[in-house]
Order: sequence, then C-alpha cells, then structure tokens
Amino acid sequence: MQNQLLLSLVEKYGCPLYVYDANKIEAQYNRMINAFSSVKNLKINYAVKANTNLNILKILRNLGSGTDCVSIQEVKLCIKAGFNIKDISYTPSGVSFEEINEAISLGVKITLDNFSILEKFGEKYPNTPVSLRINPHVMAGGNHKISTGHIDSKFGISIYQIDEIKNVISKYGTTINGIHMHTGSDIYNIDAFLKATEILLNVAKEFNTIEFVDFGSGFKVPYKSGDNETNIEEMGLKLSHRFKEFCKEYGKDLTLIFEPGKFLVSESGNLLVKVNVVKTTPNIVFAGVDSGLNHLIRPMMYDAYHHITNVSNPDGDKKYYSVVGYICETDTFGADRKIGEITEGDILCLHNAGAYSFSMSSNYNSRYRPAEVMVYNGKDYLIRERETFEDLLRNQVEINL
Ligand SMILES: *Cc1c(COP(=O)(O)O)cnc(C)c1O
Repeated sequence: MQNQLLLSLVEKYGCPLYVYDANKIEAQYNRMINAFSSVKNLKINYAVKANTNLNILKILRNLGSGTDCVSIQEVKLCIKAGFNIKDISYTPSGVSFEEINEAISLGVKITLDNFSILEKFGEKYPNTPVSLRINPHVMAGGNHKISTGHIDSKFGISIYQIDEIKNVISKYGTTINGIHMHTGSDIYNIDAFLKATEILLNVAKEFNTIEFVDFGSGFKVPYKSGDNETNIEEMGLKLSHRFKEFCKEYGKDLTLIFEPGKFLVSESGNLLVKVNVVKTTPNIVFAGVDSGLNHLIRPMMYDAYHHITNVSNPDGDKKYYSVVGYICETDTFGADRKIGEITEGDILCLHNAGAYSFSMSSNYNSRYRPAEVMVYNGKDYLIRERETFEDLLRNQVEINL
C-alpha cells in the first residue's frame, strides 16, 4: 500500500493501527483458484484462525470461499458473517465431546482426529458419515511450533492405525466421507508436499465412501525480498494432475479441498506504529515504538521476520536499527534492520501482518488492542474500534476488600 495512504489512515484513525488491503485478499484467492482450475470440484476453505474480523470473512464469503474452524466460537463467527452452514468445516484437536455435539447440532462438517472421539461419535450418531484427519508423518514447516504432520505431533490419526479405524467404524456403521491432513505452516518445498499427498491418497484408497480429500494448508508467503514462497502455480499443475489421476483410479470425481490461512490474508495486512523514542547505545540504535508483542507476537513466538519500513521517510538514508516494542520484556520486532532514517514521531510499517497478528493479540501490560481498518476498492472502512479502558475492566469483578 502507498505510504501516503498509510499516513493519512494513521491521521484519521490513530496509532497503532492494523490496515488490511481487501483487494489483495481477493487477488490471492483468485490466484489459488486459477492454480487449480483444471480440477472439476475444488473448494477453498479459509482457515479463519489467521484473521477472524467479520469483514475479512465477508470478503472471502463473497468470493465463494468456505471456512475451516478450529473452535466452536470460530464456527459461530462464520455463521455470523453469513456463511452457509454447508460451507463451514470444523477441524478441532483435543476438544470436548460437548463441542463436537454442538457443531453437529449446528450442522457443520466435522473432521475427527482421535479414536476416543471417533468411538463416542459412532456410539451417539450411528451410521453417520464423518471425515478423518490423518497424520502422514512427514516433517515439514517453517518452525517446530507450526509443524503438525510429524510423528511426534499431537495432530491427526497415524497412518499406521488404519486397521484400528476400520474396526471402530465397522462397529457403528460410520462411513468415512473425507480424508484430511494439515502438515504445518510455511512449507515451500513442493516435493515434500507431494510426498505427503501420496501418503494421504493411499489412505483415501482404503475407504470406498470418500467424497473429498482435504490437503490442509501450509503455503508459504514471502516475508522479505528474495524470500522463498510456495510456487502455487507449479504446485497447482503438479497436484491437480495427480489428483485427477487419482479420481480416475478411485472411479469418482472427488472434491479437492485446501484450507489456506496465511496465503490468503498475510500480505494484505500492515501494522502501523509510531516511534516514541530513538535510543542510541554504544552498540545499537533502538527505535522504540508504541506497540509490542501484545499486538504482534510472531517475531518473538516464531522468530518470524516482518519487513519494516519507515512510512514517514521511505527515501531517507538507510541506517541500521533495532525496532523494539514498549512491553516490559524483550519484544524485538526486528534486529539490525536497514531502514530509512528514523526520527521520533515517524510512522513505521510492519508488513505481512494480516495473518496470526491481530488474532493473536492480547492486553498484556494492560494495553489496548489497536483499531482495524480495511481498504477496499479505494475506500477505507473502520472494521474494529480501538479498545478503551472500559474493555480492560469488562470482565473484572471487584469485591469489597
Ligand atoms: C492453521 C491451520 C490451517 C492454516 O494454515 P496456514 O499456514 O495459515 O495456511 C489450515 N488447516 C488447519 C487444520 C489449521 O489448523
């Protein structure tokens, strides 16, 4: 987004501020659809945990996207955003059976990922179709915390437990209508993905009632120039080809599903922050900003790289800075970054802040969460108000002491 526009939005809505470019979300969605356009039945289910603002959900709904939810509350947000029940899927891990019941009573598609729940499901809802999350046992992903398909991961049912699955489902007449995997985030190696694909298709072959195969997500987006990115077009060609071949072997046109989060919304987002202090030490020049890990935790939590630019002085002489937050523990947004010369009061932009940014924010240090603004077709809209002191007190119960 243009620096001038970003500055005017800070002027209008205050700082710190999340700004999303909804047209970028549309472009990413269409890129994905085009990459797999040769597959007859294709469904994109946006992984809403990346960003649950209702207006972002509506943008995706209008494009024809479905959603993937990991909590019953996310399911309810999708209903609130106007998604058809049939377009909402629920892929929980380790939730209570009450939550499964609630999802079923709401009518959403559900993917189970352990035997205990599969048993309970069969007992309570005999002769009912359900899909299964499989753990393909491949190590992939950008960081251990977001690698979910390896053998020690809590996610999915192991590919070595197919016989046990068959035992359980035959007891209750359960049919398996879909096979699912999600091997982690930030995977850019297409071959690793295709390897996991083969494993998943082999599992699908074990059941003759399959209607869809869900390949989850993990598409990597570029965080800095020259960064690796999943080549979605190449992957689309290779995977579509293999999928169509599999449908022939299977004897049925199955639906191909993906659940991208980051790919759809990450690049659309910017977190704008103001420089409170420029602090020169013998070693480092710090730019201390009016935000921190309470608003964007990815750098501290995942060692994530977020590109940082000086919106107020983009063409200034480049100098080295460590951009740090105001939280009372180490919260470095970026160390040793070459940024246009920074003066106190400048507005910096943390790029790629559309996914897992606001949705992971907190009130730590009793700070307010920022406002959110969406820019769509040249117009800007406030889509979440900045918090106030009332919000900090909302659920506190004060007793007489
Ligand atoms: C988090 C998650 C996704 C989305 O992952 P991204 O890396 O953001 O694309 C998809 N499916 C499931 C089940 C998830 O938990």
